[in-house]
Amino acid sequence: MVLAPPRPEANMPKVRVNLYSDTQTRPTPAMKAAMMAAETGDEQGGLDPTVNELCDRMAALMGKEAAVFLPSGTMCNQIALLVHCQRGDAILAHRTAHILTSEGGGTAALSGAQIMPLEGKGGQFTPDTLRAAIYTPSRNAPPLRLVAVEQTANLGGGTVWDSQVLAEIAGIAHENGMGTHMDGARLLNATVQAGIAPDVMCQGYDSVWLDFTKGLGAPLGAVLCGTADFIDRAWRWKQRMGGAMRQAGICAAACLHALDHHVDRLAEDHANAARLAGHLAQLPGLLVQPPETNLVFIDTKGTGRQAADLARALRHQGVMISTMGPTTLRACTHLDVDTAGIDEAAALFAGVLQAQAA
Ligand SMILES: *Cc1c(COP(=O)(O)O)cnc(C)c1O
Repeated sequence: MVLAPPRPEANMPKVRVNLYSDTQTRPTPAMKAAMMAAETGDEQGGLDPTVNELCDRMAALMGKEAAVFLPSGTMCNQIALLVHCQRGDAILAHRTAHILTSEGGGTAALSGAQIMPLEGKGGQFTPDTLRAAIYTPSRNAPPLRLVAVEQTANLGGGTVWDSQVLAEIAGIAHENGMGTHMDGARLLNATVQAGIAPDVMCQGYDSVWLDFTKGLGAPLGAVLCGTADFIDRAWRWKQRMGGAMRQAGICAAACLHALDHHVDRLAEDHANAARLAGHLAQLPGLLVQPPETNLVFIDTKGTGRQAADLARALRHQGVMISTMGPTTLRACTHLDVDTAGIDEAAALFAGVLQAQAA
């Protein structure tokens, strides 16, 4: 059994427009220059000045006491869950949450906590749904330990949770003795879209992290924030899991560069996503969920074709797009796709649908 992603087919044309994911961004020349110039030290010993600067800046940005640099967003989630939960504890999260659907069963394998999936539109659950899911503690029931949200909600269509709803959810969790965790893989897409400061957006969340490898365009790295005590305990797991690094300032420099140069421009990605959705909504048979940020979900049912078939046909035209379900495609905008690329991709998509109709 081989579970690796399929290798590209032979004789594929060059990728012209990559809408597959914002994870596929390449470091810009300016970002690489910042990496080359980074001051470094032994990160495991707390001696890398660039990593320390990044952590200080992130803690301040998120309004938390402390922060820790980790290689990936998945490690941020899994370490946070390890710190919050004991084996058998219950986590309330949306049924499409990354911690449930996309981390290789890590939550069960590592912390041993179990996720109780909640329903709701667009990858979000309401305060009422949360209240209804909270039960009276008993010997039989798994101890309710944590409420987890995802800002933006990836599989929900890159939707932005309202900051007041987030605060209400955190309040309900705390009143019921639970902790709160925010998967902020694309948190800055949400804050840019909503015009709300990150520390306000994650107020009431005991732990929150940001991925630098999505729309921010860094080659690797994510930062987990929380109280000083929480981050102390997270550091022990980082060490145990082999996530403690050495001259990681090379990578932290890319993240600092992204904070300085790639945050405000996320608005361009959102405009490009809206532009793409506008084009695609006019094509016969496509049902497009109006995007709130940089993710565009496209239902292909009306074309009579499977999403994977269309993705393959588009790839032959030089457009990469991801397949999220039998008739669901996802297009993602980011700093390596400009407005001309959006128009080109939409025209090629029209051509693919026409070729089928002919
Ligand atoms: C990408 C992503 C992650 C995981 O981040 P990696 O850096 O790929 O490990 C977690 N949560 C959400 C919502 C994501 O989109």
